[in-house]
Amino acid sequence: MALNQSGWRPSTPQQGDGAPATFTGNRALMLEEPLIFEIGSTETTGVDFAAGDVAGSRLGDLTRTAPIGLAGLSEQETVRHYTRLSRQNYAIDLGLFPLGSCTMKHNPRLNEKVARLPGFADVHPLQPVDTVQGALGVINELAMWLIKLTGMYGVAMSPKAGAHGELCGILCIKAALEKRGEGHRKVVLVPESAHGTNPATAAFAGFTVEDIPATADGRVDTAALKARLGPDVAAVMITNPNTCGLFERDLKEISDAVHAAGGYVYCDGANFNAIVGRVRPGDLGVDAMHINLHKTFSTPHGGGGPGSGPVVLSEALAPFGPLPFTARTADGYVHLIEEERAEEFSNEHFDGTLDSFGRMTAFHGQMGMFTRALAYILSHGADGLRQVAEDAVLNANYVLRSLEDTLDAPFAASGPCMHEAIFSDRGLAEGFSTIDVAKGLIDEGFHPMTMYFPLVVHGAMLVEPTETESKAALDQFIGALRSVAERAKAGDMALKTAPHFAPRARLDETLAARKPVLRWKPPVAVAEAAE
Ligand SMILES: *Cc1c(COP(=O)(O)O)cnc(C)c1O
Repeated sequence: MALNQSGWRPSTPQQGDGAPATFTGNRALMLEEPLIFEIGSTETTGVDFAAGDVAGSRLGDLTRTAPIGLAGLSEQETVRHYTRLSRQNYAIDLGLFPLGSCTMKHNPRLNEKVARLPGFADVHPLQPVDTVQGALGVINELAMWLIKLTGMYGVAMSPKAGAHGELCGILCIKAALEKRGEGHRKVVLVPESAHGTNPATAAFAGFTVEDIPATADGRVDTAALKARLGPDVAAVMITNPNTCGLFERDLKEISDAVHAAGGYVYCDGANFNAIVGRVRPGDLGVDAMHINLHKTFSTPHGGGGPGSGPVVLSEALAPFGPLPFTARTADGYVHLIEEERAEEFSNEHFDGTLDSFGRMTAFHGQMGMFTRALAYILSHGADGLRQVAEDAVLNANYVLRSLEDTLDAPFAASGPCMHEAIFSDRGLAEGFSTIDVAKGLIDEGFHPMTMYFPLVVHGAMLVEPTETESKAALDQFIGALRSVAERAKAGDMALKTAPHFAPRARLDETLAARKPVLRWKPPVAVAEAAE
């Protein structure tokens, strides 16, 4: 839609609300905002640089000869531009974020405050070691708690996201197999309901991925998995609780079978907030598991900021962990293991010679997230962490049981869910699907739930309310989802064009993904090109 002569893009009356168009395109305090290219000018700038006395460029004939042509704004215009854009975002500080498989929860401000203390926030990875003892102390103490909470043996703190942690764990498994002379084990078994990162990780590390089917109740088909085990299987990757929101009750039995067949068990622990303080994956025979600090142990998640995916390791895999890693040593304490201290780390499996597969990152990992996670763990305490898991599960079951009379809940009969509730589009009116419910939720002021995932459920709607939402917030969300679902069941055509109240109405997301328009072209140039 073109800007008018004053540089504004007038609003069109929005369907359904009978509201008039406005000259500015603003709708009361919801401000419309053009692209910076549309409002900025190459003649404007917010800063004044003195002409530098640069002595000749060393770029030779690569030196730019024409201006770069970036649109500039004054300081105040710049601040307004980005503030207006930021107000078009939805955020956890505005409302409930029901995304399943994501854990979008409130993170206590205390942890932010601690992470911003100059001693932690300003630490530099190349500082002399004797000046960063406090930071190393934080890493070690957090490592100790992660080992304790998971019942594992060691932990590699450096991976920078869940998927990065998966790669770390799978590389440990690869190194362990090669050490045993069993590098020919090339198959990784992954359940159908797995998060997409699991098969991607295994394939990236050079393994062949094979699917394991799910049973009708939404869990791994243990019999099918056992039947597939053999001398070519390197590992299984299992998510627990799984992405149908269910606890894999057979995990210990599965681990025993995998170990007996010479393989390793990788557990995707991204959903650890549902079991923290209640279940120790080490007791279930897990060999490697990443923990998303940004899901379970505080840190804003999904805002494009850093993640952190420490990987806890079993006794069998710890010696293969990336340097540096932290593990129990002969004296019973956990220590940061660096090359020069390897001999401290000896046990019945390991004589102090490191078999590390290498490094995941140049340094120790995400300091700010370590500080937040430790502050979160210490401020919750043992009882608080257990309550995190209990509340996560209670909230999800409240959503499930409140809506199962309105929306199809495919695993409602499989018993209580864990941290997330799954619904499907079955029973919506002909021609209506999950996307219409999601878009309707936007008009109700909610970010949509996770859609069409996991793939084992047709038209899946995966809702994770998380442990931090109050009953009042849940009731409002349940009321909104119920109302939208009822409209979708009744075939309310207005839903097909929702959202009506968002800055942009329904977009052709497929077209946007397949043919993204990544370059802004000045309208004049477009007109000339057409002539
Ligand atoms: C979030 C998530 C991941 C990936 O974690 P990232 O930090 O986004 O890389 C993997 N598995 C599951 C089950 C998840 O929920």
